[in-house]
Amino acid sequence: MTDAATPLAGWTHTYSGKVRDLYRPEDGTDRMLVVASDRVSAFDVVLEPAITGKGALLTTLSLWWFDQLAGGDGGRAIPNHLLAGATPPAETDGRGMVVQALEMLPVECVVRGYLTGSGWVEYQQDGTVCGIPLPEGLGNGDRLPEPIFTPAYKAPLGEHDENISFDRTVELVGAERAAELRDTSLEIYRRAAALAEAKGLILADTKFEFGVDGDGTLTLADEVLTSDSSRYWDAETWRTAETPAARMASFDKQIVRDWLAANWDKQGTPPALPADIVTRTAAKYRELLDRLTA
Ligand code: ATP
Ligand code: MG
Repeated sequence: MTDAATPLAGWTHTYSGKVRDLYRPEDGTDRMLVVASDRVSAFDVVLEPAITGKGALLTTLSLWWFDQLAGGDGGRAIPNHLLAGATPPAETDGRGMVVQALEMLPVECVVRGYLTGSGWVEYQQDGTVCGIPLPEGLGNGDRLPEPIFTPAYKAPLGEHDENISFDRTVELVGAERAAELRDTSLEIYRRAAALAEAKGLILADTKFEFGVDGDGTLTLADEVLTSDSSRYWDAETWRTAETPAARMASFDKQIVRDWLAANWDKQGTPPALPADIVTRTAAKYRELLDRLTA
């Protein structure tokens, strides 16, 4: 794997996901250091080469969103996993976040405001997205009448996440927690989409992860509303473009996904990303951050 986890004084490396490296403190406190690497993954595989600067851009964007959702946007404060005042080691170069170690819930909380991706595939077959019936006649990239909560089971390392029904979510985390996950996810999506809209951006869909702290409080964790966990489109392009593909020109991994889908049969090792795909992806990630936070 490129960009292997760096040893950091005072911290023990405990886990590397596809994109992030996790560390626990040697002082035994209940903290965790999450370091976003420059690795890029699509279709659940890590690709080569890494995208230089991506880890720092995603961390900066995540921190900015946590701040908005803590009340910076005028809404109620959504509890999040950041530990106030805790500074990540300097070597992490803007890629680290010191957070509270939570008991994570095994549900990826996906909210979709627009029809695309796996939702579009299912809709064409069945007229539903994750089992939720939708009006007839929608096209790829169309806005949904209401944002919908479409959870996925967070599969253990090496397995693919799997879309699940709300009933299955209730079985996994209990009725009360499932309702809280749904309501909080929809609330965050609405607030974030409104903020993005004010910057001329569409938040088409996104994914949240939540954990529970020692008091049982539902706490927003992981990264939030980044280009890795969300699809963003340019609002003006979406309104005026002539083809579905053009209107969904995106600020996220879609460039990588599209190239990979056209150049790999999803068997064996994926081909290396060409330099122009890497450069364009990096530029799009940077443009999103600049536009949102301007
Ligand atoms: P996989 O582990 O399947 O590779 P992934 O690609 O989502 O999943 P990363 O996103 O690279 O992995 O790593 C981040 C990991 O840290 C996720 O498993 C996420 O659930 C976990 N995580 C994020 N915030 C917290 C927290 N506050 N407490 C505990 N775990 C957390
Ligand atoms: Mg992840």
